[in-house]
Amino acid sequence: MERYQHYIGGAWVAPDAGKWFETVNPYSGEAWAEIAHGNGGDVDHAVTAALTAFDGEWSAMKPSQRGRLLMRLAELIERDSAALAEIEVRDNGKLYAEMSAQTKYMAEWYRYYGGLADKIEGAVIPTDKEAVLNFVRYEPLGVIAMITPWNSPLLLLAWKLAAALAAGNTAVIKPSEFTSASTLAFMKLIEEAGFPPGVVNTVTGFGADVGQALVAHKDVAKIAFTGSDVAGRKINEAAARDLKHVSLELGGKSPNIVFEDADQEAAVMGAISGIFAATGQTCIAGSRLLLQRSIHDAFVERLVKVAGEATIGDPMSLETHVGPVTTPPQYKKVLDYIEIAREEGATCVLGGKPYDGPGAIGGQFVEPTIFTNVRNDMRIAQEEVFGPVLSVIPFEDEEDALRIANDIDFGLAAGVWTKDMGCALRMSERLKAGTVWVNTYRAVSYTSPFGGYKQSGIGRESGLEAIKEYLQTKSVWLAQ
Ligand code: NAD
Repeated sequence: MERYQHYIGGAWVAPDAGKWFETVNPYSGEAWAEIAHGNGGDVDHAVTAALTAFDGEWSAMKPSQRGRLLMRLAELIERDSAALAEIEVRDNGKLYAEMSAQTKYMAEWYRYYGGLADKIEGAVIPTDKEAVLNFVRYEPLGVIAMITPWNSPLLLLAWKLAAALAAGNTAVIKPSEFTSASTLAFMKLIEEAGFPPGVVNTVTGFGADVGQALVAHKDVAKIAFTGSDVAGRKINEAAARDLKHVSLELGGKSPNIVFEDADQEAAVMGAISGIFAATGQTCIAGSRLLLQRSIHDAFVERLVKVAGEATIGDPMSLETHVGPVTTPPQYKKVLDYIEIAREEGATCVLGGKPYDGPGAIGGQFVEPTIFTNVRNDMRIAQEEVFGPVLSVIPFEDEEDALRIANDIDFGLAAGVWTKDMGCALRMSERLKAGTVWVNTYRAVSYTSPFGGYKQSGIGRESGLEAIKEYLQTKSVWLAQ
């Protein structure tokens, strides 16, 4: 079986304790590679390498040279995007069509931030003091720990790594234990692009050993985390003990709101891709569908018809619409939530059980599932399922839609479907979410800030704003 070692200080390193764990293809259920099972010793080795690079070669390098390395990396990603996507699909079971587009597109983050590396300008500050020059410099933080989830390992890493490196930091990455292989394969491109040893390191293992050791390490300046709100809270608490910087991209329970005047067919397709893309395993899933009461029944009928025709099965096939659930715990969680919804009195109008039809091997498939008669105070409407389960909630008017949409602890994203631009603007102003899509859903770009309101996170990724997440401000006073 193929073996993936840690990548530390520019070298491939066997795990300190000599232990390995298997990574499993969620479609076939087969273990296909062995991954280094890291521990605190490996973490210390990697953080030391990252700190040495930060204190040495990396900080001495001109920003324009850092930018060129990022641009070179973007080219290598484009060259190898299909191969990287195949590894991601083997590990997380998401559709190849989506993952190949995603791995190719992620090159843009490295290109965009590569272009910014030599444009991080300070400022001269007017003050009330005489004959003194006060200016501000923006400086990197140091070693950044990057902890990523299993649903889009390389893209979500790109959002952190590209900005952090452009700003002059070094990195120690810990990918999810369920999907470590693609990040380790990506390290080969880091090596080929010519980054100095220690600038980018990857240590693999579990949250409880590698993740916690990384968060607790005294030489880590900041933790950039994407994952569940449960782990995010623990990381924030641990980081607070050492007053480390933190950015958190957490979960969501996003409302997708359809008004009666909307293009109904476009809204149906938006609702479907909003919840069933990636088998519902996206932080931005439009898992609460709010329908104006006048269109509710016809909309649900059309939704059930289209979603009911989805092809379920092999994620590598371009014919497949819905792939497997990625991990065994996640599979159980999705089925548990379906039971919870039934017990709460919601009505299942589509799916609602494991799928074992044609194309299902490995046993980790759930049918696309739609519940109606959902009240916003039910657990199925308030808690993140992270699976192909949609809750439909009726509303009366704009005010009612806003009340329901905002009555939740999360605030990652929201969708609005209407032809009335006044309504669209009022809704986009009053929705408590970090992203609002009007007459579209799921659009993201390397140029546009992304992040959560409320318990969906702290900080922003992508765009000009995100580079500030990896910089600290120094105010210099110069007198004669
Ligand atoms: P998870 O929180 O279980 O794990 C994420 C990562 O954190 C993994 O690498 C894991 O090993 C590590 N980890 C877990 N506990 C830790 C701890 N105590 N200390 C340090 N590291 C720890 O999340 P997941 O199941 O891999 O991913 C799904 C979650 O990610 C969902 O909640 C989803 O909404 C969220 N997500 C958010 C975004 C976003 O941008 N907001 C994007 C994708 C996924």
